[in-house]
Amino acid sequence: MDIRALIREEVLAQEAYSVETAPCRIKLDANENPLAIPAELRKKFATLLASVPLNRYPEAGSVALTARFAAAFGVGEDQVLLGNGSDELIQILCAALARPGAEVMIPVPTFVMYRISAQNAGCRVEAVPLDGAFDLDLEAMRERMAAHPPVLTFLAWPNNPTGNCFTPEKIETILNEAPGIVVVDEAYFHFSGKTFLPLLGRYENLVILRTLSKVGLAAMRIGLLIGPPGLVHELRKVRLPYNINALSQAAAGFYLDEEEAFLKQARKIRRHRGELFAAMEALTGIHPRPTDANFIFFSCDFDADRVYKSLMERGILIKNLSAPGTMKGAMRVTVGTSEENRQFIEVLRDIISG
Ligand SMILES: *Cc1c(COP(=O)(O)O)cnc(C)c1O
Repeated sequence: MDIRALIREEVLAQEAYSVETAPCRIKLDANENPLAIPAELRKKFATLLASVPLNRYPEAGSVALTARFAAAFGVGEDQVLLGNGSDELIQILCAALARPGAEVMIPVPTFVMYRISAQNAGCRVEAVPLDGAFDLDLEAMRERMAAHPPVLTFLAWPNNPTGNCFTPEKIETILNEAPGIVVVDEAYFHFSGKTFLPLLGRYENLVILRTLSKVGLAAMRIGLLIGPPGLVHELRKVRLPYNINALSQAAAGFYLDEEEAFLKQARKIRRHRGELFAAMEALTGIHPRPTDANFIFFSCDFDADRVYKSLMERGILIKNLSAPGTMKGAMRVTVGTSEENRQFIEVLRDIISG
């Protein structure tokens, strides 16, 4: 049997999302929180997990948690949807809006899951390059919207991998002019402190995504969508009934109970970010760009592939984004612990001067 003949073309045309799995001593490639949960909280968490009845299905639809998050965001329970990471919420949005011929607009470079989920759902992807400052190219996006009206536009704010927040007025222009839903993905909210949440009432096409992954619970896969009740109502039909497993539900509740401990870590990472940025800026031929996230996007005047490989040989994993054009020599490093950052700088200095 020819399996390939059975598979949809959009799927055949893709490569699976690849995650570097090489063993490393210092992992600075995935924008995780590098800090462990404080010991006494870890104990509390273990007790909580031990009390979860593993023989029972999780609470369907995470109703109690949804209510708690809605209260925390100051919105209605009918405006919040939990996902298995925000990745799943991106997938649900695409699946629900992928009418035949539907188009999804994204700026590039940006978070790769927008393209993958849109294509898997059968949507056409309209990719519009960012401008020279990695901000939105409003004119190009307007032209594209006129030629190919998107049902869905994804804007990561701050953007991954470039780290900057697009000019908010430009996002508002898109909210005003886009014919479809505009998703503002605030995955790095805990490090930017900036949000479109107060504008939810003003734009009925605005959807906000949040996640607990970057602030310290990446392993638990907890994402949040906040949007208009009419849309959330439809999206609930698309998600699987038990999309948040019982351990993850417990973890999300734990996060809300202990949020201050996580926010304290985020503040610490923000301080480390400033120190790492200054140290990178002091290296000749390394050009970090201002960032609102827990990572630093930078370009180097050296052979990026060689720098990346040399770092890896010495046990340090970052993300190599180097490609011809505006991404020449581009890389992304996650802010680690102060010791990890120190070692990264030391090894990098060594590599580029050697
Ligand atoms: C990391 C990231 C996500 C994915 O978050 P999960 O909740 O772990 O699925 C979503 N959007 C952006 C922009 C990200 O960088």
